[in-house]
Amino acid sequence: MKLIKRGRYWILIFLIWGIFCSLDQWTYVNEGTSKSKGSVRDGSVSNAWLMPWSGKNFGYFSWWSYFVIDNAYIHSDVYKIALEAYETCETTCPNTFFRTMECGNTNGGKMTFHNTHQNGLGIDFMIPKLNSEGVQTQWLDRIGMWHYLLEFDTYGKNQIFGSIQLDLETMAKHILALDDAAKKRNMSIHKIILRTELLDDFFNTPSGKKVKERGIYFMPRLYPLANKVHDDHYHVDFKKAFVVKKRTSRELFK
Ligand SMILES: [Zn+2]
Repeated sequence: MKLIKRGRYWILIFLIWGIFCSLDQWTYVNEGTSKSKGSVRDGSVSNAWLMPWSGKNFGYFSWWSYFVIDNAYIHSDVYKIALEAYETCETTCPNTFFRTMECGNTNGGKMTFHNTHQNGLGIDFMIPKLNSEGVQTQWLDRIGMWHYLLEFDTYGKNQIFGSIQLDLETMAKHILALDDAAKKRNMSIHKIILRTELLDDFFNTPSGKKVKERGIYFMPRLYPLANKVHDDHYHVDFKKAFVVKKRTSRELFK
């Protein structure tokens, strides 16, 4: 009896602590423009924006990551790119629900479980999954941070539930939408990280071929741990597009 009482006491403390930690997220207002400093491995971001917890065809993957450890903050431009891409996917992939995974801390910098994501320009996306009938299945997507423990083989099949397969075609459509939305904001996709053994299958999908035609860069080699964990999500880094400023002949000969 004493143990039950003590258990309730700790659950109550945990709940109050969770509510206290999440207050920042409940009251946060996105406004102004973010500014990135430094690199993905040694950087920061000021005035970051908070990704929505959920939208029409997307949601954030973990309440712990979102509300407790504040990992859903991102540069305002990347925020707009991500949301516009989801909107495009309402048309290009109408039967898919997408999930955003980790973005960054409120002010960027070192983040739990990640060496990068420090300057607000990197964001993780979960790969949608299909059942044996080719229809999206979502129950493995609802396990929050435990999602990192899921393992998929080099053919994109879940190692425990072999009938569950990564949907690489939809992933490619999402990347095309991200690329289009980035270009509108004078940004571009800097690089994408996906388990390297999945790249051939990815580029063989109809939309994967279009991604390849656009020359979007995927890391061809990864450290073993990075390769292992990117078996069910893809990391996308953005950058400002290089702008060639046209100079007048007078400026050229000055
Ligand atoms: Zn990442």
